[in-house]
Order: sequence, then structure tokens, then C-alpha cells
Amino acid sequence: MKIAILGAGAMGSLFGARLAEAGHDVTLLDINAAHLDAIRRHGLRLQTDEADRRVQGMQAMRPEQAGAIPDLLIVFTKTMHTRAAMAGVRHLLGPETIVLTLQNGLGSVETICEFVPAQRVLIGITTWPADLVGPGHVQSHGEGVIRMMSADGVDRPAVAGTVAALDRAGMHCKADADVWAAIWEKVAFNAALNPLCAVTGSTVDQLGSIPDGPALAFAVVGEVLAVARSHGVAVDADKVGASVLHAIELHIGHKPSMLQDILAARCTEIDAINGAVVAAARRHGVPVPCTEALMQLVRLIETRAAGHGLDASPVLH
Ligand code: NAD
Repeated sequence: MKIAILGAGAMGSLFGARLAEAGHDVTLLDINAAHLDAIRRHGLRLQTDEADRRVQGMQAMRPEQAGAIPDLLIVFTKTMHTRAAMAGVRHLLGPETIVLTLQNGLGSVETICEFVPAQRVLIGITTWPADLVGPGHVQSHGEGVIRMMSADGVDRPAVAGTVAALDRAGMHCKADADVWAAIWEKVAFNAALNPLCAVTGSTVDQLGSIPDGPALAFAVVGEVLAVARSHGVAVDADKVGASVLHAIELHIGHKPSMLQDILAARCTEIDAINGAVVAAARRHGVPVPCTEALMQLVRLIETRAAGHGLDASPVLH
């Protein structure tokens, strides 16, 4: 397949590299000049548990420099950049191009459907992890899965073809007609742990240092899952609760991406996670006070950094 990755940061680079290693024709599209330059010069350095290697043969360029229409476009920008990124690849969206989003949060699929009809859009989640170590250098440890379905819910050949490409690349990918449950469960997990760490400057395990940390995380999870149920999504509260406990017990020293973004004075994905939950809760009349308070606190920290040039970092102990 001819595959373009829109937003070739940590996740986009990992997915692009794995698909290139499986023999696909991969183009990485990004706006990070240093990262693109390093990949063009030396290939992408990919460190996984199996090997530390350089993946050669991928093209890497800014979106406006690309001309070839891909069969599959995988969107892996942060959610707040989805609309601008999609606008930058209008010229690459052919009549048959399939667009897949595995981004976190809610709302990207609606944004993508402003550019491509829903029958050519695939949605899903992935539990593969990735970190951008530096320009041209990505690492990913452990294993993950991918679950996806068509955005309009119809099971068509594009779903099977995309699933097969990712699965044969060793990414453990399956079609899943219940993917909305997995999306909301991941949103619940992220809406609890990401802002709690971002606001308090805690690593995930530090949330467990007093009972109030897990209690607040569980309060947020309960609120988000209530919103999901009000949407008719059959979420599994025990599964999310177990994941949250597992993370607090075992993710020693882990700084979730929202904390990393705050520490680097970057915008966070708060609008697509807690913000989208709060908006959906208002539509359905579901109270979400903890989810909303965390959203407001993260927005305050972001604004402090952007508006006044102040240090956005909470104190890390
Ligand atoms: P990242 O910041 O490492 O990568 C995003 C890339 O998008 C950057 O390289 C940036 O330069 C690029 N970009 C921004 N605007 C662009 C534009 N207009 N055109 C082209 N490229 C543009 O982020 P990430 O960690 O790879 O996360 C991507 C998405 O995947 C997020 O929604 C995240 O929540 C989700 N996710 C991440 C992980 C993880 O472990 N990193 C795991 C699961 C899901």
C-alpha cells in the first residue's frame, strides 16, 4: 500500500517505520524541520525491545511538498492540530483515499469528516506506546494492540484491508464493531490520570501516595463512564478501574504526555479529553464536576504560560 502518515512524531514515526519494515511505501508528513531532516539524512532510528535499528526508505517531507495520492492516510498529530493538518493535505485526498485516526480523545473523527466522507474514515484506538527521543529518533517499549472500525459503522473492505496491513506489520490489529466502548474507556483513563498528573506535577505512581489521588481518579472515571452510557455506549467500569489501579501501582516514574506538554510549556490535548467529555455531559445533563475542575485547572496552567510568558511547570517532587 501507498501510506502517508500525517503527523510523524512519536506515534506516526513508530507506525510509519513498522509499516515500511513490512514492505509498504511510506511517506512521513510533518512540519518539524529537524525531525524531517534527520530522517532524510540517516533514516529513522527506531528503538524497540527487539532491536535498535535505522529504518531506511521512508520519504519524509512537509505536507505541501507531497504529491502522491496515498491509499491510506494515518492521522497522528495531537488532536488540537488535526484540522490544520487535514487542511494541509487536501491535495493528497484522492477519491479512494482511506483516512485512519487512532488519536486519543474525542472529536478528531468529526474534524476529519469535514474533509473526507465518513465511509472512507476509520476510527479506533491503540495501546502501542511511543516517545520521541530527539530528531529522527523514536523509542517504543512493550507491546500494544489496535482496534478499529469504519466511522459510519459499515463493515466494508477498506476496514479489512487496513487491519490486515497493520496486523501483518506485527501491530496486533483487529476490526472491532464495539470500538466506541474502547474509545470512551481510554478517554476515561486519560481524563483521570493525564490532568491529575499535569496539575499536581506528579508521576503516575505518585498519585498513589495518599488515598485522595486514586479516589479523585476514580471519581473522574465514574463521571466519564456515566457520560458514555448516556450516549448509549456500553463501557466496562471494572476494566477501566483495573487499568487505573495497575497504572498507579506499576507506572513508576511515568510522566503522562499532558504533564510532559505542561513541563515543556506546550498546549495539551485537554480540549479533546476532559473538554469533550464536559461538552457531551452538558448536552446530556450529566454532572461531571471533577472532570470539569481538572479541565479548568489545566486550561489555567496553559494560559499562564502562553499569555504571560511565565513558567508553566508545576513543581515536580
Ligand atoms: P507527537 O507530538 O510526538 O507527534 C505529533 C506530530 O504532529 C509532531 O511531530 C508535529 O510536528 C506534527 N504536526 C503538528 N501539526 C502538524 C501539521 N499541521 N501537519 C503535519 N504534522 C503536524 O504526538 P504523539 O505522542 O505521536 O501523539 C499523537 C496522537 O496519538 C495523540 O492524539 C496522542 O494522544 C495519541 N497517542 C499517543 C501515544 C503515545 O504513546 N505517544 C499512545 C497512544 C495514542
